[in-house]
Amino acid sequence: MNLALTQRPSSGATHSNITSPTRSTDFWFNDGSVVLHAESCLFRVHHSILSMHSEIFRGMFSLPQPAAADGDVVEGCLVVHLHDRAVDWTHVLEAFYSGRHIRKQRFENKPWPFPVVAAYLRLSTKYEIRYLRTEAQKLLSIAFPSDLDSFDIDNHGKPIAHYSALYFDAIALARETGRLCILPAIYFFICCSCEVREVSEGIKRADGTLSTLTVQEQQAILRGRRLLVEKLPQETLYGMLPSTEFDCYKKSCERARTHIYHNLFGIHPPHEPDISLAFRTWNREWDNEGMCSSCRQECNRYHDMGGGWMWDLLPWMFGLPEWGDLLWDEVLTDSEE
Ligand SMILES: [Zn+2]
Repeated sequence: MNLALTQRPSSGATHSNITSPTRSTDFWFNDGSVVLHAESCLFRVHHSILSMHSEIFRGMFSLPQPAAADGDVVEGCLVVHLHDRAVDWTHVLEAFYSGRHIRKQRFENKPWPFPVVAAYLRLSTKYEIRYLRTEAQKLLSIAFPSDLDSFDIDNHGKPIAHYSALYFDAIALARETGRLCILPAIYFFICCSCEVREVSEGIKRADGTLSTLTVQEQQAILRGRRLLVEKLPQETLYGMLPSTEFDCYKKSCERARTHIYHNLFGIHPPHEPDISLAFRTWNREWDNEGMCSSCRQECNRYHDMGGGWMWDLLPWMFGLPEWGDLLWDEVLTDSEE
């Protein structure tokens, strides 16, 4: 961990450029006892508050403090140089001091801004801030579930506020923090909602910056998308396939099944199906297509079975380890805390 009380930044900062960074307007307390220095921002905060929330800071401050070298003190406070994003510390200090975000989201049921969730996960992992880590993990696992029962294709990542580059930024966070079990759901959302051009070129955020995927990520998503398109009719919609054999030989049932299939896939040439059908529940409108109750039940059963099977295979389609391994990694990561 790049964290030291009196060690100067590896960039070779001097006294002059230690004092030149901007003081945080929100977190500069005149009675603060320690100064955090992240990127070009200084936060004057309190040993006691940091120790109360973070096990790493608690351990660090419990040790005898070395004498401050010249340049590592601002207004009598030791400077702790942090190799983190300043904006992440702003979000985490906000949680320490006011808890506004947590209260607001919890009691007003507002969606969480992704940068806040990302900051919580990054810094809570690094500095052992358990409650923020739990909060961030819970939000990410609701937004991008690893079990089909919790997955809702229409939730678009709720309870995290949606924005154009959310899925791409979430992939980067998952890779950075090792939360790989959220990747299959994110990849699937991308397959359902993003154009191939966006996958290869990236998506602009509101501030004009571009969120891009690595070539490996792009290939994984495009491969998964191709496999989903291939497997959708054979699995989730198997009951509608004209070639599927049923005990029922009524012409009206066969016509109904074929009609549903052609509506979804076209006749010639087939158009690309709506991939989101893979994990949608049975469409009640299909009950009105003229199938007998036995055929409806059978098609519904195929639909559920196929969806479950597709979900089981989802990580594999994207070239990821299977669910069991993805989730086991989570258990191991959590038990290390
Ligand atoms: Zn029938």
